[in-house]
Amino acid sequence: MGQQIKKVAVIGTGTLGTQIAIQAASYGYDVKAYDQDSESFQKNLQKVRNFMKMRGKGPTLPMKEWEKGVQKVKQAKDLAEAVKEADLVIEAVLENVELKRKVFAQMDSWAPQGAILATNSSSIPVSKIESAVKRPEKCLNMHFYMPATSMNMVDIMGGTRTTAETIEAGQKFIRSIGCIPLTVKKEILGFCFNSVWRAIKRQTLYMWAGGYIDFRDVDRAWMVFTGMNQGPFAIMDGVGLDVVYDIEMVYYNESQDPKDHPPAALKAMVERKELGVKTGKGFYTYPNPEYARPDFLKV
Ligand code: NAD
Repeated sequence: MGQQIKKVAVIGTGTLGTQIAIQAASYGYDVKAYDQDSESFQKNLQKVRNFMKMRGKGPTLPMKEWEKGVQKVKQAKDLAEAVKEADLVIEAVLENVELKRKVFAQMDSWAPQGAILATNSSSIPVSKIESAVKRPEKCLNMHFYMPATSMNMVDIMGGTRTTAETIEAGQKFIRSIGCIPLTVKKEILGFCFNSVWRAIKRQTLYMWAGGYIDFRDVDRAWMVFTGMNQGPFAIMDGVGLDVVYDIEMVYYNESQDPKDHPPAALKAMVERKELGVKTGKGFYTYPNPEYARPDFLKV
């Protein structure tokens, strides 16, 4: 029958934690959240609402249900209170391995013995965190995509001692909150989709920086091939070119392969504050980028 999850705790209600807590509460889970900044949930809630408006893409469930979910998330006064009855604890604090290990150790000492401990980290495999707790068999990566409310897929990846039962319980939970579990069978940086997306970024940036092709033609090709309304360069503008650069550096630092180093031309754009949508200029200029014009794909 497998492990039953009814009560969920979310530690860290920043950009992602807030969305994860609401997603779980909207689908009927009893959710307790804790953040060291007591105003974090409210602040991020507003950001999430603005983001959904800007993208014109609401949550995967009716907006009314989502707003009900917002009301159902209970705020705990400390970490112990948040996790003490939880069946699943999802950590979503800052991307720092030492901090995550510290928070995992606290989660381990206060959560019930059978509770599953998950990290929403974008780049740290749980194998680098699991030795901070006494239940490594119950630990896993549970990586949500941004925005978690509509990008309904979640990577699941175990550490060196995670049991099949823990993975199954994680998959079941993810399905139960309207998301698709993408199960990574063997540890890989970037999990399932970010690994694929990363290969696309590396090659397209290489072609642009090397002067092989105009970035607009890469986007045109991608839009024709996939039927999407944006290509890789437009998507990178949306993510933020500073964020793209930092992520590429994580891959480079891991491999130390010069081919993985992001191009100097990208760094120059970041230094000029050409960060994409958020600064009004990246590969394209905003608010009316060229790729969104009707003649962009005209022959
Ligand atoms: P964020 O900075 O928006 O939020 C982090 C929150 O953690 C803050 O509210 C902070 O107050 C809180 N915090 C820090 N230390 C804490 C502690 N000791 N106890 C309790 N709360 C603490 O960050 P984010 O973008 O939500 O990212 C959080 C995690 O999710 C990271 O590991 C990141 O890699 C991952 N992630 C982020 C994205 C994204 O697009 N932003 C996507 C997927 C995964």
